[in-house]
Amino acid sequence: MDGEDKNKLTRDDFALNRRFMVETQIKPRGISDKRILEVMEEIPRHLFVDKKYWPSAYADHPLPIGEEQTISQPYIVALMTEKLDLSGREKVLEIGTGSGYQTAILSKLAKEVYTVERFGGLALNAKTVHAKLGLENIFYKTGDGSLGWAEFAPFDRIIITAASPDAPVGLFNQLGENGCMLVPVGARFSQVLTRITKDSKGQMIQEGICGCVFVPLIGDNGWKGDFNA
Ligand code: SAM
Repeated sequence: MDGEDKNKLTRDDFALNRRFMVETQIKPRGISDKRILEVMEEIPRHLFVDKKYWPSAYADHPLPIGEEQTISQPYIVALMTEKLDLSGREKVLEIGTGSGYQTAILSKLAKEVYTVERFGGLALNAKTVHAKLGLENIFYKTGDGSLGWAEFAPFDRIIITAASPDAPVGLFNQLGENGCMLVPVGARFSQVLTRITKDSKGQMIQEGICGCVFVPLIGDNGWKGDFNA
């Protein structure tokens, strides 16, 4: 066996890395929903990043995915999923498909996921991995997700995986009654992960969860301009 083969990670190595990720990064930070822990242990996160990142695919930080965008830190994916409070019956809108990793987690825990990405190449990569994993309840759109996806509204849940300068009212309008939306809100390099609930009178109730740093939501109802970093 040459040096390259000896260093090659096997299916078992990845499964072990996933278990280690859940035990050391997710559970100790307070995520206790059994279904989320199981799905985090099941979905092969390494398939959503370039092969050169496979050795660090389960590490405690974001990774590059091309187009100057990132796959989020595993804990943030778990936290956002938990705060969506999914029962399995929901129609979810995700803005910012990125690698498609969060989408895959959501597809296992909700009825349908509608996901929008502004970069066609990222959307295509995500779709390819989802097909390989046999995920069939995901619907894709390439375009400006800050406008939502009116054709399929209302949604039970909305998750925005890019930072918005303010609570996005246009997206809130596509949320169903008693639905909730998760969105990082704030300045360009520092935001508060915010849960926005629509009560039975259609009022907006906002709750800050934690500080975070996301890439910007670029679009008509997000940050204007063409910066991607
Ligand atoms: N959740 C993703 C994952 O698991 O890989 C990570 C998403 S990444 C942090 C944010 C994504 O939002 C990027 O892919 C970026 O291109 C996308 N994005 C930014 N503005 C957008 C917009 N207006 N519409 C759709 N996608 C947008």
